Amino acid sequence: MSDWNTRTKLVHGGTRRSQYNEVSEAIFLTQGFVYDSAEQAEARFIETGPDEFIYARYGNPTVAMFEERIAALEGAEDAFATASGMAAVNGALTSMLKAGDHVVSAKALFGSCLYILEEILTRFGVEVTFVDGTDLDEWRAAVRDDTKAVFFESMSNPTLEVIDVAEVAKIAHAVGAKVIVDNVFSTPVFSRAIEQGADAVVYSATKHIDGQGRCLGGVILGTQEFIRKTVEPYMKHTGGSMSPFNAWVLLKGLETIDLRVRAQAASALAIAEALEGDDALERVIYPGLKRHAQNALVQTQLGGKGGTVLSLDLKGGQKAAFKFLNALQIAVISNNLGDAKSIATHPATTTHQRLPDDQKVELGITQGLVRFSVGLEDTDDLIADIRQAVAASQA
Ligand SMILES: *Cc1c(COP(=O)(O)O)cnc(C)c1O
Repeated sequence: MSDWNTRTKLVHGGTRRSQYNEVSEAIFLTQGFVYDSAEQAEARFIETGPDEFIYARYGNPTVAMFEERIAALEGAEDAFATASGMAAVNGALTSMLKAGDHVVSAKALFGSCLYILEEILTRFGVEVTFVDGTDLDEWRAAVRDDTKAVFFESMSNPTLEVIDVAEVAKIAHAVGAKVIVDNVFSTPVFSRAIEQGADAVVYSATKHIDGQGRCLGGVILGTQEFIRKTVEPYMKHTGGSMSPFNAWVLLKGLETIDLRVRAQAASALAIAEALEGDDALERVIYPGLKRHAQNALVQTQLGGKGGTVLSLDLKGGQKAAFKFLNALQIAVISNNLGDAKSIATHPATTTHQRLPDDQKVELGITQGLVRFSVGLEDTDDLIADIRQAVAASQA
């Protein structure tokens, strides 16, 4: 399998067939597994082989298929599937940290990621320093000999700043810290974060991996040593494992993810180009635009692909943003992303509502900002819908 190209790995990678030789992968909706003898049960609790299972919190054949397929896509040695993206972020960090450790994190984070770093880790005696993730000098100044991990979203939500994985990894590795990257916005299709120096990559599978808004899920990818010795004991004993049913949906999502994400990214670029320069917009933020502040990095880190999300900053603040959302005919108002359906979100009053106003300003989350996750609808229809909603926002 290792010499297959990506699309082949996504269709066939990790498949395990039962005695019935089914074509589409089976859902093993079982918590437990029967042993032929007491001796076999004893032996399996000592060491579990690749096709042997004990209990679904520890592992399950459908979940294992999902783990192998996503590991093949990311180019990671191993993976552990989790109940949600947040179980993955929490598991990657908490499994390796202890009281007294130091962490450096980018400050532009998904709301729940920020909560883990600001509120939870600190409650257990981990010290966290926040930096502007795009400023390498801030990373250099913040890391110390006792820094155990650095954490960032390689493309931040909702302002779509891109962080240099390779350069931050060099800075972190110089002090022996592990690099943990939340890669949702970069997508597993365009990311090569492990190759670029990340020690662990985390995804919310709820987003592009499902891609049709059905299931929660997450995954932690890394070396076999990190996943099996550090992550697995923490996850299997604390209960954040993925359900076999969700694993099946997400496994089938991987079969089409390359086609979907490439189509969504091509639409996102066309929409951003069509809207650039519109008088009603303060800014069109899309990493794939030449004018984006980190576009050079997008070329080297993501093969020039700016992802499937763009953000629009409407003139007229919250009032204009709400008029825009309410005028949309195709895109729905919600807060998921990576879905086949285009989804528009007003971060300041929803996903980032919790943040104090000064922190919103610092992160560029203005009242006029709308995050737009581009779906699989016809690109021209989306452009027409957004154009009429932009016009309505100024009426
Ligand atoms: C959605 C998201 C998460 C959390 O994932 P869930 O599956 O909702 O738990 C974490 N990080 C980023 C960047 C996200 O977009």
